[in-house]
Amino acid sequence: MSNTIEFCEVEKRYGERTVVDRLTFHVRTGECFGLLGPNGAGKTTTLKMLLGIAEPDAGTIALCGKAIPAHARLARQRTGVVPQFDNLDPDFTVSENLLVFGRYFGLSTSKARAMVPGLLEFARLEHKADARVSELSGGMKRRLTLARSLINDPDVLIMDEPTTGLDPQARHLIWERLRSLLARGKTLLLTTHFMEEAERLCDRLCIIDEGRKIAEGAPDELIESEIGCEVIEVYGASPAALRDELTPLAARTEISGETLFCYVNDAGPINARLEGRPGLRYLHRPANLEDVFLRLTGREMQD
Ligand code: ADP
Repeated sequence: MSNTIEFCEVEKRYGERTVVDRLTFHVRTGECFGLLGPNGAGKTTTLKMLLGIAEPDAGTIALCGKAIPAHARLARQRTGVVPQFDNLDPDFTVSENLLVFGRYFGLSTSKARAMVPGLLEFARLEHKADARVSELSGGMKRRLTLARSLINDPDVLIMDEPTTGLDPQARHLIWERLRSLLARGKTLLLTTHFMEEAERLCDRLCIIDEGRKIAEGAPDELIESEIGCEVIEVYGASPAALRDELTPLAARTEISGETLFCYVNDAGPINARLEGRPGLRYLHRPANLEDVFLRLTGREMQD
């Protein structure tokens, strides 16, 4: 299996600060790979280096078989980019935004025009072809930005937080559209701080914190290897007192903020202990990537 993206021992410093620290990951052709981490972890900087927009201080990068930044222009011909913030032209219509973008890739007007119906269909925006961008909802704008990134029929899509700021319904539609791209054989790289997004979409991911990789693998494998059991979240009382009481009944416990996390192979004894206790709320759920992050860093990913 070949790699569409190779990122080896890459470093980026701003002044005294190392914001990407000897980061290594590979994205296989045809997979969806996630860069997961809290705000400030270095995700956007990593994408900028991959696209040749920011220069690394050390390490090697290849995108679609081209060395970056030396051959970034060539690699960009095979790449679609979805930036974190939509930069559509508000004065143009939906169709015009697609056509104008085609020119950036040197597409002839007739070729760009031929692409538009398929892209509108992909974005579920056929009925909005002549609407101005300013009339679109946030979800529609995101879908248009995604469709626009496909104008050059790229092999790989690089997306910075593709669903940040969207409501759950709009987010689900983007996920469904991204899955359709995977079915068409595209390679996807996305950054996110949404666990659910990473768990649902990504074949593999790496979790980064303060510029460093702290875990890498398939979501379910990471959850199994790092956590390997279920979780009961308890809140509504002093977490320290709860921990003293419940630790003997759990495989492991962890406090984050006001919540006690009990990692359990058998939820029965803790559920029985907490049942009916006034003022306490508790939630029994499968382990997730947030638990992996908490385990590895001692804090929650989302503040
Ligand atoms: P993320 O995308 O994970 O939120 P970023 O890559 O945007 O993280 O930022 C990583 C760190 O690098 C942050 O602390 C940010 O303040 C810093 N940073 C990003 N760009 C610059 C820059 N141009 N100059 C100085 N510091 C920067």
